[in-house]
Amino acid sequence: MDKHLVLVGGGHAHMVTLKHLHTFIEKGHQVTVIGPSKFHYYSGMGPGMLSKIYSPDDIRFATEHVVTKQGGNFVLDKVIKIDAAKKTVYLEKGAPIDYDVLSFNAGSYVPWDHVHGEHTDIFSVKPIESLLKAQERVLELLSQNKISIAIVGGGPSSLEIAGNLWRLAKDAGQHMPDIKIFAGSRLMSRFPEKIRDLAYKSLRNRGITIIEQDYSKEIQSGKVILESGAVHEADIIFLAVGVKPSTIFKESGLPTGPDGGLLVNKYLQCTEHPEIFGGGDCIYFQDKPLDKVGVYAVRENPVLYHNLMAALENGELHSFDPGGTYLLIFNLGDNKGILGKNSLIFDGRLAFMIKDYIDRKFMREFHEMEK
Ligand SMILES: Cc1cc2nc3c(=O)[nH]c(=O)nc-3n(C[C@H](O)[C@H](O)[C@H](O)COP(=O)(O)OP(=O)(O)OC[C@H]3O[C@@H](n4cnc5c(N)ncnc54)[C@H](O)[C@@H]3O)c2cc1C
Repeated sequence: MDKHLVLVGGGHAHMVTLKHLHTFIEKGHQVTVIGPSKFHYYSGMGPGMLSKIYSPDDIRFATEHVVTKQGGNFVLDKVIKIDAAKKTVYLEKGAPIDYDVLSFNAGSYVPWDHVHGEHTDIFSVKPIESLLKAQERVLELLSQNKISIAIVGGGPSSLEIAGNLWRLAKDAGQHMPDIKIFAGSRLMSRFPEKIRDLAYKSLRNRGITIIEQDYSKEIQSGKVILESGAVHEADIIFLAVGVKPSTIFKESGLPTGPDGGLLVNKYLQCTEHPEIFGGGDCIYFQDKPLDKVGVYAVRENPVLYHNLMAALENGELHSFDPGGTYLLIFNLGDNKGILGKNSLIFDGRLAFMIKDYIDRKFMREFHEMEK
């Protein structure tokens, strides 16, 4: 009894644990949540926030408020190192914190390796908060002139960011920007041909350019330089080059998978330290590598909550089953979407309506906790 549970990051995989935080406290445990923001932004609605389909309040969850309301302790800071032998986490600004049980939902980041020099008017698609700053800057520049926007990366976030930038500019009713996607080899290369065709059709119909078969070599403020040597000027650059798990595990000598994510077994438990758990983009699931999609973070929630309680109370751990294929819906920004699950693939308004319904329902459940 009276143990200390420390949660690092209030992301998607900790949502159920945060919802039931009071249950740990009722059993006499102390709970501390550490995060760099008082809010957690739901990434699935991030591109829609960029285009103003959603307001920041629609897509964010008041982590600090929910934690303190239930009797937990919220620390506005970032974990930079873990000493698993001492059971201590070290923070960027504050004093170290000791734990009995530790759980990571520290997410992933977009690497800035290719960016050289100043970072003026370069925005990464994560953290989602940075899309708000990008929105403000795009609107400011559009009110003055016609601008060009480069999106570096060829995955779903490029598709969604491009479509939603188009929407932002269209609704602003001023100059329409030139939007170019630098997609590396091929746009949406790991998706079925039919999804790719629908994505091309949607973007090209709106005058969005897709540049393929040429990777970006270097990014500077105002410039994207490709491996072929071609140089493209851009007033604003978005980095959507894929995500990597937080680097804190490798730097702390914890076991990691090939991508640097915390190596966890079927109980979402660190393979070497049974009192450490994790979920979401920051883990490497030993049994089967998982895509970095929110769907898995959401599916991990109940198991993570159960296992954290079991670890504190000497209960039995539950194993996580990643489940089968998942539904993907991309928000194209024009009130249309592309929906794909197995062989079912279609685009249009219905696809976006389904995504909007699912996303709003998900957020409503967590907004309820704030009351
Ligand atoms: C633009 C975009 C759109 C996407 N759309 C979808 C979608 O529609 N559907 C889908 O399934 N997936 C989508 N994804 C993927 C999805 O974002 C991730 O899989 C999901 O965010 C993973 O959730 P998470 O909780 O692990 O990480 P995150 O959402 O990144 O949350 C991590 C949390 O940890 C905190 N944190 C980070 N570092 C530290 C630290 N050192 N110390 C303490 N706290 C820390 C962060 O502030 C954050 O609150 C999208 C991704 C992007 C970039």
